[in-house]
Order: sequence, then structure tokens, then C-alpha cells
Amino acid sequence: MNRPVTNPRSTLHALIPFGVGTADVESLLSYFCRLAVSHGVSTLILSRTIAQHFGHSIAANFDWHERQIAGIRESALTWSAALSALTSVQNLDNLTFLPWRDVISQNGLSIFKRGQFCSHCFAEDVACERQPYFRLAWESTEVTCCPVHRKPLSCDCPSCGKNNVRHTAAVVVPGWCTHCGGFLGDTTKSKNLEEVEPASIWRARQIGELLASQDNLAVRPNRSQFIGAITQIVSKAHGGMAAPFSRRIGIAKSTVHHWLKEGGTPSLEISLKIAAHYGVSLKQLFTGELPQWQPPVLNEQLAFELLSSNQTPRNAPRTIDWTSIEEKLVAFLSLPTPISVLEAARRLDMEARQLYLRANKTTRQLGERWKNYLKRKQEAKVVAAWPYLEHACLEIWGEGKTVTRREIFKRVPKEILSPVPNLLNVLKDVQEHLQQSEPMAKRELVA
Ligand SMILES: [Zn+2]
Ligand SMILES: [Zn+2]
Repeated sequence: MNRPVTNPRSTLHALIPFGVGTADVESLLSYFCRLAVSHGVSTLILSRTIAQHFGHSIAANFDWHERQIAGIRESALTWSAALSALTSVQNLDNLTFLPWRDVISQNGLSIFKRGQFCSHCFAEDVACERQPYFRLAWESTEVTCCPVHRKPLSCDCPSCGKNNVRHTAAVVVPGWCTHCGGFLGDTTKSKNLEEVEPASIWRARQIGELLASQDNLAVRPNRSQFIGAITQIVSKAHGGMAAPFSRRIGIAKSTVHHWLKEGGTPSLEISLKIAAHYGVSLKQLFTGELPQWQPPVLNEQLAFELLSSNQTPRNAPRTIDWTSIEEKLVAFLSLPTPISVLEAARRLDMEARQLYLRANKTTRQLGERWKNYLKRKQEAKVVAAWPYLEHACLEIWGEGKTVTRREIFKRVPKEILSPVPNLLNVLKDVQEHLQQSEPMAKRELVA
């Protein structure tokens, strides 16, 4: 009560969360770990500070990573509110699954406790000069792969091979092994060679879509919309009969009755099954947005295969919304780091050829932008190496020798030389340039 109200400065650093509004949104657990690093304290000390701020006393064996702070339970609410209060950064509950609290049953979100991650995402963070961070999607056990890199998530350190090394420690620097300190994004050492099943990618994408939307939901998803959607499905697909619906999903009829009449909501796992079997997205199901929905032609076999076999769903003809594809391509054009057409195709789950065929202009623009980007990147490497090369050439000439690769490698550090493409051509340019700028001096030296 006696705090000075005129001082709006936050107690803790106001770190900006990563990836808000995208499927790659940061998890609150990651935010918490970064905050501890930012203040140079252990996670235990930071968790004590937070608890004290809220007047909670903390047990001696208090273990913050048992709290599931990015889930849908009370602890997620307490921690996100506390962190928002102390950092002055609003809406930190969007770094948790809380926005879906009314449509996922209390015990219906299982959290992956040993800390899974995608090495390629960490590697990309570093390549983009961003601090590596844990994605909220990785917290759910329903997400077993990275839909961007199409690799299974892992919880083993690529350097020391130990398990559960992502965040269970007193000092956690997201992206580095808590056991050996090795970089968890070291993709050269990562043993994850197995291909992921299309069904896992589908599940990861559905959850990604939820997380991407949770920052700008007009209305918080609520149970009545969700149950409305299930009622609509049961009525349109099965004439209102719960029995065939429950058979398809593989649950008891009484459970369906319970949701529809008395209350209660399915687990995330069951909701994903409903979405897959009835051809709606998880987000549509949760938000009750099914205005145009028509039941798919019911083929038990097909729906079953989608969830449990290795067959790619690509075999089925697919209607493509080219207006939306075009919009996405245009959005790719303004990404800060350009992407290749192949990468764009991968993100849209299409073939590059199709993009060239049906969205030609934008696709070519993407291709052009990528080429220029590569060129600029290479030029930048040459520009960085240029002064070293000039200096080395003059020195070699000074010793009366000819400029050769070997002589250059003796004088210029490898880190400078190895990224330079076509080193011999560049060396020719350097020497020509030197001769033109100071022809007399150089000729004397050469002679
Ligand atoms: Zn990834
Ligand atoms: Zn390690």
C-alpha cells in the first residue's frame, strides 16, 4: 500500500516475448528462464521472488518446473499474472494454453515434462541472431514433431546424449544443455533422422494454428460455442445420434452425453480426434466456427488411416484455396529474412512446381528476392575479407613472391577466408584493384 504510485518502473526487466501471434509463440517457462538469465539469478531465486511478491511462502523442496506454468491450470494463471505484474509486460497468459481453458478439460492437456525441443528451431534462432527460446507448442505431449522442419522433437542433448536437459536446473539458458553446456541446436550432431508421420505434422499444425490465433481472439473460446459445434457435427453427420459419433471417436456414449447435457469438456487429444474424423480444424471446433460445414463422406477406413498409418494424405485430391495461397506468398515477400521458393512451398505444404504454375508472378518475385539475398550475403563476405586480402597481397608482393592460395592462407585467418566464394577470382580482383590504384609502387615491388 505504501509503494510510490508515481513510479511506473517495473521490478523485473520488461523482456519482449518472442513469436507472439505466430505458431512459434514462446512458452511462459522459456520467458521465465530468460528473465532469470537477464537478471543474473538462478531460476530458484526468481521463483522465490515471484512467490514472495504474491505473499506465498515457499516450501523448502519447492520445484518450479513441476508447476506446469505454461499449461491451463491455476499455476499458469498465477505465474503469468505475477510475471505480467512484475515486468509490466501485458498479456503474458498468451504464453500459456490458458486462452483455451474453457474448451479443454482440467486434466485434458498433458504437458511434456522432460522438455522437448527442435534442434533446427534453435539453430534458426541463432542464425537469425535471436536468443534461442522454447516454443509453447513443445509443452504439449500432442506435439511430437516440428511442423516447420518436419523433424521429431527431442529431449536428448546432441552433445552429451543426456535426457531432460532443457530446463530442469537452477541455471537455465534456453538453447543450451543444462548438463554439459552444449548447444541443443547443434544439428550436425543431432541423431534425429527418422521421418515424421503426416498425422503428427497435422496435429502439430492444428495446435500451431490455435497458438497463432490466441493473441487476437475476438472472444475467448468458451464451452458453449464448442459444445454447439459438437452438437452440430452429431446432428449433421449422424442425425443427432450420439452412438455412431462415440464409436467413431472411440469413447463411451455416456461420455458424449455428459458433454452435451451436463457439462465437462473433452481432452485435447479427443478434440484432435474429432477434428480429424469430421474434417474441421481444431480451431474451428473450439471456437464453434462451422457455418459452412458439411459432413465429409463417412469412410471409416480413411479417417482411421489419417490418424494411424504412414500413408501420406496427399493421395487424396485436395481443393486448394489459391486466393489464400497468394496472400501467404505475398506475406512471405515481406519477411525480414527472405525465403526460397522451395521453403515457401514447404511451409504451404505444396510443391514448388504448383506455385510456379498457379501463382507465377509472386513465386518468381520470391525466387528473385532469394537470389538477390544470397548474392548480397556472398558480397558481404567478400567485402569483409577484402581489406585482409589487400594487406596480404601487398605483404606477399613485398617479399617478392607471387600471390597464391597457399601464401594467402598463411596470412589470413581461416574464418575470414572460408566463407569467400571463388577465392581465386576474388584474389585476381584484389590484385587488379591494387595495381590500378597504385600502379608504380606495385610494379616496383613485383619487379
Ligand atoms: Zn523446428
Ligand atoms: Zn549435454
